[in-house]
Amino acid sequence: MPTGICVEERFVGCLLGLAVGDALGAHFEGQSPDFMERRYRSATDLIDHPPPGELWYTDDTQMAIGVAETLVACGRIDDEVLCSRFAANYLPQRGYGRGAKVVLQAMCDGEDHRFWAENLFEGGSFGNGAAMRVAPVGLLFRDDHDAVWEQARQSSLPTHIHPLGIEGAQVIALAVAIASSFDQLDRSSFFEELASRCASVEYSGPLRRAGRLEDDRDLGLFGNGIEATASVVTAVAAFGLTPDSYEETIGNAILLGGDTDTIAAMAGAISGAYLGVNTIAGHLLNNLEDRKQGRTYIKQLAKNLHGRHADAVR
Ligand SMILES: [Mg+2]
Repeated sequence: MPTGICVEERFVGCLLGLAVGDALGAHFEGQSPDFMERRYRSATDLIDHPPPGELWYTDDTQMAIGVAETLVACGRIDDEVLCSRFAANYLPQRGYGRGAKVVLQAMCDGEDHRFWAENLFEGGSFGNGAAMRVAPVGLLFRDDHDAVWEQARQSSLPTHIHPLGIEGAQVIALAVAIASSFDQLDRSSFFEELASRCASVEYSGPLRRAGRLEDDRDLGLFGNGIEATASVVTAVAAFGLTPDSYEETIGNAILLGGDTDTIAAMAGAISGAYLGVNTIAGHLLNNLEDRKQGRTYIKQLAKNLHGRHADAVR
């Protein structure tokens, strides 16, 4: 269990934990749980024998970088700056979803992206695209949970206006905030605080059930899909089952199949915030891409975000 981990290590652990979970999970996106079970005996087996080659992150990490850059620049979510960072960083080949591509292309072209965010899906998207990128919000506002909740909402709005898409992001941000604040997590109060904040039974019920989860074979009951309601609680539950092991947390998340990159990104961000960067296996971290905006850039970005946090609490 994590004692004596400094806050900066937790910031770095969160963002690199997100990127490694995303990049490892990306190898298995869309696979079935049966396929994963046939290929790997356990989460440890998967971590010990990752696919060969460099680990490339996807849209989850790319957009989380945009959120972190905005917070470093502004100290809060500024809608205009956030959209300009999303547009500047946008590489369609990073695995963006169909709807996200339309909204982001509109941002890049200076068109009315809000029209698409509001109309592409009836009532707005309730996918996990806001939740996958929100972890930096939980870090910067970790000392003020009301601010976490509101800033997570603000960070969702450029692409996700459906209440379930927004609340999914709020849950992940708050999970990161709490995880980054404790040396020894009280599992039942962790899940209860998350559940009691939620307005939607789609989250509060499963979060309370996740708090009682004992067996990783039951993790799949929380879903493995791209909807926020089929992935956010899954990620939090994966962390809650094995809070003292980053590797088991992302390994179990990936073994579920489905939206593996995003579920492992969210679970990895929470776990990294709790355990710090030194918990991430060297053979995975050293294999994470390190070109423009790669692991060196992400590490420095996390340190800059920590600097912002240190300034704010001084
Ligand atoms: Mg992705």
